[in-house]
Amino acid sequence: MADDEEKEERPGLIFTCSICDSEFDMDAEGGIAGSFGVLPVAFCVWCYSSLVDMVTQDYDEEDLPTLQ
Ligand SMILES: [Zn+2]
Repeated sequence: MADDEEKEERPGLIFTCSICDSEFDMDAEGGIAGSFGVLPVAFCVWCYSSLVDMVTQDYDEEDLPTLQ
C-alpha cells in the first residue's frame, strides 16, 4: 500500500496529449487531464489553450463565467 502512495505523489507525471500525441510533463509544462464524457483524455498546454479559445469563440463575453 505504501508503494502505491509513492507512485501517486511522484513528480513529473508524463502524459500523452490526446490531440497532438506529444508527451508532456503536467507539473513542469501545464496542461490538463481528466474525463471527456466517459473518455479519459489529456491535453498539452498548447492544445488545451486552443481548445479553450475555440470554445470561448462560441459564446458572447457576458455569457462566460468570470475567472477570479
Ligand atoms: Zn497537444
